[in-house]
Amino acid sequence: MDKLMKYSEAVEKFDPVLGLEVHVELGTKTKMFDQSPNEFGGDPNTNIAPASIGLPGALPTINKTAIEWAIRLGLALNCEISEVSRFARKHYFYPDLAKAYQISQAAVAVAHNGWVDVELDDGDTFRVEIERAHVEEDAGKNTHIGSEDGRIQGAAYSLVDFNRSSVPLIEIVTKPIEGAGDRAPEIASKYVQALRDIARALGVSEARMERGNLRADVNVSLRETPESPLGTRTETKNVNTFRGIEKAVRYEISRQAQVLADGGEVVQQTRHFHAEDGTTSAGRSKSDAEDYRYFPDPDLGPIVASPEWVERLRAELPELPAVRRRRLRDEWGFSELEMRDVVNAGAMDLIENTVSAGASSAAARKWWMGELSRVAREADVELEELTVTPAQVAELQVLVDEGKINDKLARQVLEGVLAGEGDPVEVVDARGLAVVSDDGPLIAAVEAAMADNPDVVEKIRGGKMAAIGALMGPVMKATRGQADAKRVRELIMERI
Ligand code: ADP
Ligand code: MG
Repeated sequence: MDKLMKYSEAVEKFDPVLGLEVHVELGTKTKMFDQSPNEFGGDPNTNIAPASIGLPGALPTINKTAIEWAIRLGLALNCEISEVSRFARKHYFYPDLAKAYQISQAAVAVAHNGWVDVELDDGDTFRVEIERAHVEEDAGKNTHIGSEDGRIQGAAYSLVDFNRSSVPLIEIVTKPIEGAGDRAPEIASKYVQALRDIARALGVSEARMERGNLRADVNVSLRETPESPLGTRTETKNVNTFRGIEKAVRYEISRQAQVLADGGEVVQQTRHFHAEDGTTSAGRSKSDAEDYRYFPDPDLGPIVASPEWVERLRAELPELPAVRRRRLRDEWGFSELEMRDVVNAGAMDLIENTVSAGASSAAARKWWMGELSRVAREADVELEELTVTPAQVAELQVLVDEGKINDKLARQVLEGVLAGEGDPVEVVDARGLAVVSDDGPLIAAVEAAMADNPDVVEKIRGGKMAAIGALMGPVMKATRGQADAKRVRELIMERI
């Protein structure tokens, strides 16, 4: 067990510096250097071709779409695009890397020198500067069988699946992130969320962390003061949830602070993250000048990005998430806080589609952030996983606005929709949930309620209008909540 300094104390005594290396798997149809399908899942070793599994003599070809997407991503990250960049071989041995080298980019990356503005929970924006974004290929996947934790140590045997081999990756590397202070964990996580949103807006990746489309290596170091030289960093590899990124940063800050406070030295090393308890543990030690014997891949020509091509791609960029968020906030008239809640709940697209289907923004927000958020929380699923569509929510609101159902009935209608009973109109018909505004049944219920509660009737006659509520209860009960409240009120007053 590591000795940890209390987080609040650690960030008071030391200044944390972060570095994030994020891998984004591109969703191109085919692989980076051959024509085998780039598909998630599938039987092991079925989506493969000679080049990606390193068969001797097999020649790689460059996937042009992947390069185009890398440039688009680079532009969206405010990077400069290199007119000429190259692929290089990065040598290392691992059983899931059949060639014993990975094709990556060394000295010159496709994109470099950019930045992303990250929105934080308190409404502040924090700028993260980007060193480079380069193209490379993914490796295959080893599965170790027989060990307790799935690691190679203690395993009886290992399996190799090359389906992921040569899937196009963009690695986005930040410059050292300084000035984060005690918000370092949040900044790290929100930065990766911003990358996810940008990748999705560009349509270059599903960017789903749980599928490994998006993976982060988290570098953390501490120094005495913001003026001190950079301290020694650790690199926690392959953290694959946003909560995990936050926890890994927090843990490393607390751990390194204690090491330093005890007069020790932080060891430069990679570390593993343990999601169960949010801790990290030592991996291999790593020096800065690791010698991968990079050299230009003689099988592949240079990537040439002409200014005309780059400008065309820039002109074709879609609206980016930060701009879209600001636009929608203004269009919808939400406060900053309301908008942040909407974004954090993953409700922005849903509300947008509900509004397109005809609902007001206020109504759309009411349903998605209210009743539907509650249902999602109870079922422990994301809002977008609920089996109700924005169009159905809009239809529900139309029924409310037309007075066909009230809010209480609307919740029952939603329940029916979620249970797969059809669209709101169908549920209203099938369950007989429409508001009763026909006088017939209402008059009977009103008169019965008045007869049963003469004292209340007296109070109303005496001018205590609030007492009407005491008659509404029995009327609603008699009509199973379906009485049109406005009409009931009128019928009572007519009889007073
Ligand atoms: P490596 O090959 O070791 O992964 P990279 O240069 O690819 O190195 O990535 C290192 C990451 O860590 C970059 O984001 C870099 O800005 C950041 N970094 C470098 N030095 C420090 C430091 N002292 N503390 C925190 N982060 C650092
Ligand atoms: Mg790295």
